[in-house]
Amino acid sequence: MVTSSRIKVFVRLRPSDTSSNGGGRGSSGIDIPPHLFGIDTISNTVTISATEGGGHGGGHGGYNPNSHNASLTPTTFQFEKILPPPTTNSSVYTLSALPLIRSSLAGFNATLLTYGQTGAGKTYTTFGPPAGASAYKERGLAARAIAGAFEEINRYKTVNEGMGGTPIEVRLSCIEIYNESVFDLLGFSGEDDSKDSGRDGGVPSLSLFESPSAGVQIRGLKMPLVNSAEEGLNLLFESQMNRAIAEHQLNDASSRSHCIFTFHFTVRNPENNKVTSSKFNIVDLAGSEKMVKTEAVGKVQRESNYINKSLSFLEQVVIALASKSRDHVPYRQTKLTHVLKDSLGGNCTTLMIACIWPHLSHLDQSLSTLKFAARMQTVRNKPTVNESKTNNVASVKLLRQIKNLKEELAF
Ligand code: ADP
Ligand code: MG
Repeated sequence: MVTSSRIKVFVRLRPSDTSSNGGGRGSSGIDIPPHLFGIDTISNTVTISATEGGGHGGGHGGYNPNSHNASLTPTTFQFEKILPPPTTNSSVYTLSALPLIRSSLAGFNATLLTYGQTGAGKTYTTFGPPAGASAYKERGLAARAIAGAFEEINRYKTVNEGMGGTPIEVRLSCIEIYNESVFDLLGFSGEDDSKDSGRDGGVPSLSLFESPSAGVQIRGLKMPLVNSAEEGLNLLFESQMNRAIAEHQLNDASSRSHCIFTFHFTVRNPENNKVTSSKFNIVDLAGSEKMVKTEAVGKVQRESNYINKSLSFLEQVVIALASKSRDHVPYRQTKLTHVLKDSLGGNCTTLMIACIWPHLSHLDQSLSTLKFAARMQTVRNKPTVNESKTNNVASVKLLRQIKNLKEELAF
């Protein structure tokens, strides 16, 4: 089955003030004059007036309401959906991750990315709010996708009962990419507790290798088999605990790293015995704000350069993958695009949630996010099913392992 579809972009606005129970000031939760920032959820448009310096670090610079800058002209963008406050994570999940989980179980590779400046709601959307009163109610898309995947699988099993074997295998993995190094967030071993298990310490960076049969692989990555939603949620919790530990050691690095939580599905269709292998990635990207030169010195400048490079190659790769001649796809230029090579653009389903912080001081960053998102949604993909050549889940697994080992030895 081949159908062409645009990369979908949703725009999610966080409430501008979350101190009062997440509601923000005013009924819409958007505390900004409508002539500078307006949304229409019927036509799914955002209209914004900003200068787009694009060179302002999180929270600094941006629009100055006292400057009466005559050069501000409104720009209108149209997207697949605008999700203003108080849209819940539950609604966002139903609209975004649930269809991708279903499509991935049907054999398509899929990726959901959250993009935007630091503080705009990327982690809130993917992994939920920080621990607290609303943490369970507002749990993120990853936790919902785990529960949703097992609901789908159990339904599938009931419908196909008596047709033999266990037709679906689910594995999970989670990595963090920081300064072009790849870390396994499920690879922290308990024995290392006494040591420094941070980026600069005990946890090694993993290398990538490419296998003609299985695509880009991460050497040594843990991909545990998961038999229930509960097991999956425990792994998700473990990965985010490890992210928090690493973040603490690196002084709030989560906004400067990319986190990729991946479902690996192997599914046998009992009707024709065909087996599909597919992936679904949920990606919490690093903050997209660019630092002004004077702010970015030393370590921060290095981090900022890596982030700018990976986000701009992300766009270029998606565009190149969707073009007719896919000869010059620069996915090897950064770890982010290399890891996502076979599940981004081209023959995969890709959805981006552009996160916006609708506050006066963030107008420039918001415009820059909307522009990036608008360019992404011009790309057309042709999703295709990843059918395996053998029709037995166990042999697919064994063949994959044997091939990987051979290729790894030859590498
Ligand atoms: P990012 O990951 O983009 O840097 P976060 O997701 O950490 O940003 O969000 C920053 C803060 O805003 C957090 O305290 C988060 O709980 C809050 N927040 C973000 N989006 C929402 C939302 N839709 N509703 C309520 N609070 C939100
Ligand atoms: Mg974050």
